[in-house]
Amino acid sequence: MREKIVAGNWKMNTTIREGKELTENILRGISSVPAGVTLIVAPPFTHLSTISGIIGNTKNPGLSAQNCAAGEKGAFTGEVSAAMLASVPCQYVILGHSERREYYGETNEILLEKIQRALANGIRPIFCVGEVLEERESNMHFQVVSSQIREVLFKLDPDDFKKVIVAYEPVWAIGTGKTATSEQAQEMHAFIRSFLAESFEDLANSTPILYGGSCKPSNAAELFARPDVDGGLIGGASLKADDFLAIAGSFA
Ligand code: PEP
Repeated sequence: MREKIVAGNWKMNTTIREGKELTENILRGISSVPAGVTLIVAPPFTHLSTISGIIGNTKNPGLSAQNCAAGEKGAFTGEVSAAMLASVPCQYVILGHSERREYYGETNEILLEKIQRALANGIRPIFCVGEVLEERESNMHFQVVSSQIREVLFKLDPDDFKKVIVAYEPVWAIGTGKTATSEQAQEMHAFIRSFLAESFEDLANSTPILYGGSCKPSNAAELFARPDVDGGLIGGASLKADDFLAIAGSFA
C-alpha cells in the first residue's frame, strides 16, 4: 500500500495570526481525515516555529517548508538552510515548484543540490515536476517531465530516493482553475511511475505521486480514485481549512 498524502502549499499567503488560525481550524477537523492519509501544511518560513508549536508532538499535520537553500551555511543573505528547517522541526520541503523554477531561475542542477541538502538533514523533499501549456500543446509533456526526473531524481542513491515524494503539477493548471482531467493525471502519473522504475525498479511502485493544479473538494475524489494518483499538492484550496479537510476526505 502506497502512502496517501494531501499537502497544502500556502505560498506567500497569511500573516502569522492568520496562519495560526488556519492551523487551529485544521486541527479542529483533523478527526475527519481518513486513517492512513498524511496531512501536511507548508506555511511561509516566518510561521514554521509557531505552527510547529501548535501542531505539537503528534506531528499531524506534518510540517513542510516551501523551499530551502542549496548551500550548507554561511554568507548567503536571505537564505534558509535545510539544517535550520530540521531544527524547527520541519519534516518536508517543497522543491522544484514551477513558481521557483520560473521566477527564481531554479534549474534542475540547483534543485538536485537542494534535494541532497534536504535529505542530508533528514527532510523529505516533495519534488514538483510538470509542463507548461505550450509543451503540452506540442505534445512534449512526457519529454519535459522525464528530463526533470532524469536530471534530478536519477542522480540520487536509492536509499535517498525512497524518501522522495513526487508531485506532478501541470503548470497550466496551477492557480488557473483549469484542472487536468483525471485521465490526463492518471496517464502522466503512470508514465512517471514507469519512468522511475527505469532507475529505481524496486522503489517506483511505492513512491507517492501527488497531483497538483486547481485541485478542490469538487474534483479531488475523481482524481484520487485513479490508481496512480496518491493524493494532492494543494495551493489555493489549502487556505480554507474546510476545503483542505474535504480534499483530504476525498479518498475512496
Ligand atoms: C500549487 O501551486 O502547488 C498548486 C497546486 O496551486 P493551486 O492548487 O492553487 O492550483
